[in-house]
Amino acid sequence: MRRPCVAGNWKMHKTVEESLALVKELVPKLADYSGVESVICPPFTALAKVAEELEGTDISLGAQNLYWEDRGAYTGEISPGMVAELAEHVIIGHSERRAYFQDTDSAVNKKIKAALKVGLKPILCLGETLEENEAGQTGPVVKRQLATALEGLDEKQLGDLMIAYEPVWAIGTGKAATPEGANQVIKTHIREELARLAAPEIAQRMRVLYGGSVKPNNAEDFFQQPDIDGALVGGASLQAEAFSAITKAAAA
Ligand code: PEP
Repeated sequence: MRRPCVAGNWKMHKTVEESLALVKELVPKLADYSGVESVICPPFTALAKVAEELEGTDISLGAQNLYWEDRGAYTGEISPGMVAELAEHVIIGHSERRAYFQDTDSAVNKKIKAALKVGLKPILCLGETLEENEAGQTGPVVKRQLATALEGLDEKQLGDLMIAYEPVWAIGTGKAATPEGANQVIKTHIREELARLAAPEIAQRMRVLYGGSVKPNNAEDFFQQPDIDGALVGGASLQAEAFSAITKAAAA
């Protein structure tokens, strides 16, 4: 059995004060769903205060990115060790970073390795664009992203990782993939590739989330799919009511 996970990616939303207000609302709402691993990923500026607020709760904290070097003259960047002081998880390879900030497949691989080195648990995002989808390239694209991102990792390291399948055309568009379609990609492309890269039992143990316009009204349909172990949620994670409703659906 894979424990479901619902992770909230707050992106570039919420000041420290707003983040604390949202966390204070979330803590009691999520307390009933301990069967689900809840992860929230606020902006860097709010991590420290949110970490304090989460002490003694079951909610885990994640960051949205890191740089792979340990330290140095990299103005504006945040090192893996700095993230690990505050957070347990880190989102890596989100499509917005791939599109706007040159997170290539090989940069994603360096970030994953750097995160694992300091004990962070990466949430590796991958998924095809609309163009790639329409050209029938979903399988090859997803497999390439996965194989490059995981290059050089051993089986123990793979066990510390979650994957989020996020078709780019479904992110922030209100146009989610169909649950069956997402499950099919995860089953035939992602788990198949994982089984090639690691022992089948490790591939079976790894959690794969779906992300892309998950809302309270469609979450349950995704969670009923056998290969979908939860969700990475963007827009709906900014409202306590919506995020807890999605978590409730995962708990069911
Ligand atoms: C995301 O940013 O990872 C995401 C899935 O966003 P949304 O839920 O808003 O589509």
